[in-house]
Amino acid sequence: MLDRYSRLINYLRISVTDRCNLRCRYCMPEEGIRLLRHEDILTYDEIAGFTRVAVKSGITKVRITGGEPLVRKGIVTLTGMLAAIGGIHDLSMTTNGVLLDRFAGDLAKAGLQRVNVSLDTIDPEQYSFITRGGDLNDVLRGIEAAKKARLLPVKINCVIHESPDETNAIEVARYCRENDLEVRYIKEMDLEEGRFSVVMGGSGGNCAGCNRLRLTSNGKLKPCLFSGLGYDVRTLGYEEAIKQAVGHKPQRGRKNINDSFYNIGG
Ligand code: SAM
Ligand code: SF4
Repeated sequence: MLDRYSRLINYLRISVTDRCNLRCRYCMPEEGIRLLRHEDILTYDEIAGFTRVAVKSGITKVRITGGEPLVRKGIVTLTGMLAAIGGIHDLSMTTNGVLLDRFAGDLAKAGLQRVNVSLDTIDPEQYSFITRGGDLNDVLRGIEAAKKARLLPVKINCVIHESPDETNAIEVARYCRENDLEVRYIKEMDLEEGRFSVVMGGSGGNCAGCNRLRLTSNGKLKPCLFSGLGYDVRTLGYEEAIKQAVGHKPQRGRKNINDSFYNIGG
């Protein structure tokens, strides 16, 4: 699919839940969030049905995200349902890694090809501080499990304040070098203020080359992270929602006061 600015739209990011087992300071408030009602969350049949139509329209790359995707019950089943759709060349997941030790093997068997794991520091105290209570060892075990399950390349998403020269970022880079991991730095963003930048080592944040659509867990198809636009796949129907989202994809991001990272999935 080409949009109005001749960008080839071939990448779908699917947020499967707004829930999370961490409370990263830059992402979620400490007290948690007002959770979506169960009936508002797309079922796995709906997600797979939508994705099938999206693939027919030209999507070739799919990422499962959240909230934390591994806290949604039956996530291995959904992964298998997506893997069974012919035409997806790249099926990946972004996870905080806390539960990856438990799931990596089954996810790989179900057809997941690779994972991105979020890790901003390898200092256990800093990790617990940033995530408000997370245990670094869970994530490190998860990363090892992902490598063993050959969910390769394992990429590390590292959120930084200003520059990759910060101590936490340097330590993460060293850990990645020593463990055959690819690191990509993401400058902390603010959707409401419209503060965003390119992902260093990745492809996000570059409006001119943006190839993405995002499906939220309650079925809004969003053409841009930094815009409040969203098209309801249940009320519009899958094809029409795709048509509208691609047709209205903004030339560049501005700001988004309707959404947060945990409901869009980054
Ligand atoms: N829970 C999973 C995780 O943390 O990997 C997936 C969802 S999370 C919203 C996806 C990505 O968004 C993570 O890599 C996270 O670091 C990033 N993220 C969250 N809030 C952010 C912010 N304010 N600025 C930049 N990146 C952010
Ligand atoms: Fe949860 Fe991921 Fe947000 Fe952290 S960044 S609070 S792990 S959704």
